[in-house]
Amino acid sequence: MRGRTFIISGPSGVGKSTVLKALMEQRDKLYFSVSATTRSPRTGEVDGVHYHFLDEETFQNWISHDEFLEYAEYVGNFYGTPKRFVDEAMDRGEDVILDIEVQGALQVTEKRPDTVRIFLAPPSWEELERRLIQRGTDDPQRIHRRLQRAREEILTANTYDYVVINDCVEQAVKELDAIITAEHCRPSQQLMRLN
Ligand code: ADP
Ligand code: 5GP
Repeated sequence: MRGRTFIISGPSGVGKSTVLKALMEQRDKLYFSVSATTRSPRTGEVDGVHYHFLDEETFQNWISHDEFLEYAEYVGNFYGTPKRFVDEAMDRGEDVILDIEVQGALQVTEKRPDTVRIFLAPPSWEELERRLIQRGTDDPQRIHRRLQRAREEILTANTYDYVVINDCVEQAVKELDAIITAEHCRPSQQLMRLN
């Protein structure tokens, strides 16, 4: 059985990395797609683990060689999903998780309509701002731009297949886990085995 692709979108600081890390620890056959980006690494971020950190010229090179399933500009930097690793993981029967913003999610959905899209939302705007400040990775101007972008992103949440509120990490992980399990119980997935 080929694996399925799950997109997780949501405002910067909502807790996507935190929740996905916990999910990866408790669920088998799940592959996290490591994106490429032109943004600089944050303290503790490792090249090839959290992102493939590229300069702009290399990123453009990957675009021209059709290496990306999707790519988008986000708050002054480029981000993209390398296609090859996603396909290899799905061929191995693993589910693939893409942590990507809403423009990228739209591109993937157009190319691959069977992708499942999940929006991770904050319990409140105040809590989102608090998390961005407390994370300590962005200066006030960048936080302001990320919050502005968040206001636009939240408007697209109702176009997703699921919305999970990240109030308590444990509960959000439980809901994501349940969604993935449920998606494998769709008739299109289960009855394929009997053909
Ligand atoms: P994202 O990947 O969406 O940008 P992060 O995973 O980096 O967000 O989380 C942003 C900050 O919020 C981090 O400091 C993280 O520890 C914290 N955080 C994540 N989820 C929760 C939660 N449910 N409750 C409180 N703090 C959280
Ligand atoms: P950050 O800089 O906080 O790691 O990520 C900023 C935004 O870029 C987040 O919304 C994240 O989901 C998104 N992102 C990360 N990787 C990709 C990618 O490969 N493609 C797209 N379109 N967005 C991405």
